[in-house]
Amino acid sequence: MRSPSRWHLTFTACVAIGACGQTGPGDDAPPASVVIVTIDTLRADHIGAYGYFRDTSPNLDALAAEATVFENVITTMSTTLPAHVSLMTSTHPMTHGIKGNFAHMGEQFGLDGIRTAAEVFTQKGYTTAAFVSAAPLKDHTGIQIGFEHFDQPDGRDRLNAETTDLALGWLEGRPADSPFFLWVHLWDPHAPYEPLPEYDVYSTDEGLFEFFEERGIEPSERNLRWNNAYDGEIRYADAQVGRLAGALRDTGRWDTTAMVVTSDHGEGLGQHGWRDHGTIHNEQLFVPLVIKWPSGMGARPGRVATLASSLDVLPTLFAGIALRPDAGLEAQFEGLDLLSDATDERDYVLAERTHRERGWDDGLRYALLSNEWKYLFATDGVDRLYDMQTDRHELQDALEHQAAIAEAMSELIELLRTAEQEHTQGELPPERAEQLRALGYIQ
Ligand SMILES: [Zn+2]
Repeated sequence: MRSPSRWHLTFTACVAIGACGQTGPGDDAPPASVVIVTIDTLRADHIGAYGYFRDTSPNLDALAAEATVFENVITTMSTTLPAHVSLMTSTHPMTHGIKGNFAHMGEQFGLDGIRTAAEVFTQKGYTTAAFVSAAPLKDHTGIQIGFEHFDQPDGRDRLNAETTDLALGWLEGRPADSPFFLWVHLWDPHAPYEPLPEYDVYSTDEGLFEFFEERGIEPSERNLRWNNAYDGEIRYADAQVGRLAGALRDTGRWDTTAMVVTSDHGEGLGQHGWRDHGTIHNEQLFVPLVIKWPSGMGARPGRVATLASSLDVLPTLFAGIALRPDAGLEAQFEGLDLLSDATDERDYVLAERTHRERGWDDGLRYALLSNEWKYLFATDGVDRLYDMQTDRHELQDALEHQAAIAEAMSELIELLRTAEQEHTQGELPPERAEQLRALGYIQ
């Protein structure tokens, strides 16, 4: 059984946790409460607030209008459990060691020094609760660590509304003035794409053909059907966002609560010949991130275009609500506060392909993204490079014309791979640690 790695990977020389340019509560103000909603399998470009042509997300869009919308956020791995572990710990899969939903069945992360958001909130005096909707996040995984109350489906998964009902019931029973951390995980729009009849409202139209054409998606009957049904399921998940936001307003908690809506990964839906997720194309990596701040805290409503990772959610959230992490947690964080200037020093964000085996290995392993380039590292040597400014949908491989850039990005991934392998076999050799430290990749 593999233990989670202890070596610490970061993509800048320092991690600045602070409330740069932000306001915080007075000393006697109660801590802000936090609700995190993770909508499984929600790709960013199917949401109104991210430019989608359909009205799939009226409630999320309304939330976004009074929130900070982070426009360019990728997950660390487009697989449910590893991505959620990264989100809840601000650590890469290379660090937390969970690289598939089921490869680690029975093994729990977080027992080797990595702390979860729930543990930290508990230490800060919060009441904590989680309501999850599917098997990859049930309590055999370790994702439940730190939650006082953890609720999961009896079977493999459950409907969004059932999970939301339970979360709302829990919220109703909470004293109005005590801080809480609530995580709600919604399974749909995960496959199979079978929206409830009242949400099965989309049929093929001209906008969908244009959307396909921009992205190089074949307009086959199957791909069109997937996209229509998927959009219906988004609408169903979005309705739950509206219910949760409404409950916060109705119970007088809106002004004292930060509400975060994000996803663990996107979905192929026929793009790059892929239906679901698990690999490293942009439609599977880019996720929404919307943070509605408590009154008088965090950033003003607006849009942030900084290239970011889901690793950045906790550092950004903690800074925004002026919740000071202790030194140990600060050292654990591999993400950055997106509202500070720390991201100026970050050149790349990294994503990794899932390690699950299903016979559909495409050879791709790592994606390294900068504002200018996206590099896909493959184990079969057929690497690829895409221009992020002009070819965000990865249609035209530019590697042949940009060999120097590709080589530099490849060398960095090779170094990280070597370091990870050495670490899992024992201790990271001092010379490797020094090499990473000199580049600013470990602290
Ligand atoms: Zn997922």
